[in-house]
Amino acid sequence: MRTNDDIWVREVGLRDGLQSIDTIFSTEAKLEWIRLEADAGVPEIELGSFVPPKLLPQLADTKSVIAAARAEPTLYTSALVPNFRGAIDGFTSGVHQLNYVLSVSEAHSQANVRKSVTDAVADFGRICDYRKENKEYANVRLAAGLATVFGCTISGDIKVNRVMKVLEELLVFEPDEIVIADTVGFANPTQCREVFEQVLSVVEDIPVSAHFHDTRGLGLANVGAALEAGVSRFDSSLGGLGGCPYAPGASGNIVTEDLVFMLESMGLKTGISLDGLLAARTCMTKYLHDEPTRGAFVNSGVPKGAVLASPINRLGT
Ligand code: ZN
Repeated sequence: MRTNDDIWVREVGLRDGLQSIDTIFSTEAKLEWIRLEADAGVPEIELGSFVPPKLLPQLADTKSVIAAARAEPTLYTSALVPNFRGAIDGFTSGVHQLNYVLSVSEAHSQANVRKSVTDAVADFGRICDYRKENKEYANVRLAAGLATVFGCTISGDIKVNRVMKVLEELLVFEPDEIVIADTVGFANPTQCREVFEQVLSVVEDIPVSAHFHDTRGLGLANVGAALEAGVSRFDSSLGGLGGCPYAPGASGNIVTEDLVFMLESMGLKTGISLDGLLAARTCMTKYLHDEPTRGAFVNSGVPKGAVLASPINRLGT
């Protein structure tokens, strides 16, 4: 795992993006996209999700995608798992990390996985126990993701105390990473600063990632607030592809190219080439049918005289 950058960016377009659009990418098309992003220097890609293929046919080839992507020497690979059964499949896939996600909203949890939040927390415990009992999986890292942290389309407001209670229950199992997700794009910067300050005050040395959707145009403002609170890991998707099949109206994730430009221009090294990202974006969009992409950097480029943090983004290097 790369450690010399200031910020770690995880591309989630191949999971969060593809699961919410109609176009089904072939395995080859996904691999072309993955190779270009790995070449651009993206450190981690979430390659898919271990859910029944009937539910998400777009991600039915997750296992083959992982097997092929593991050949990329610099790429750290991860995949989402929504439950214990998905995790068992995930362990056998050879992926570096499994990202388990549960919703802190009781109503969203019931609607999404037909399970109480308490049962969903217990499932993460079972997954951790399974890793302990099966030494061959000892190196697979387990992230615990909290969805609908900033609000939920069903029950509305979510209190910070509620988030902290679920987080503390998950920390008992010593996850390798915590992901805090604004699943439906409700968050504002003030709320982000408050939530991330509280989260970071209790996790000790466990890395914390932020997962933002740009539903109301506040995605990058929320990144700014999370940065100020001390967060250094962000999820994003190329061209802003994404949404949530269980959250009507949710738009895509924050845009990888725009995020990387923002960080780099703030003097924060990502190790990711902006030109490389645009090449990957061109590749991805040629496989889309009528699905829209978003992003501002793609239309404007680097401002004259701007100094970007990573050497890979400096002209003539
Ligand atoms: Zn998402």
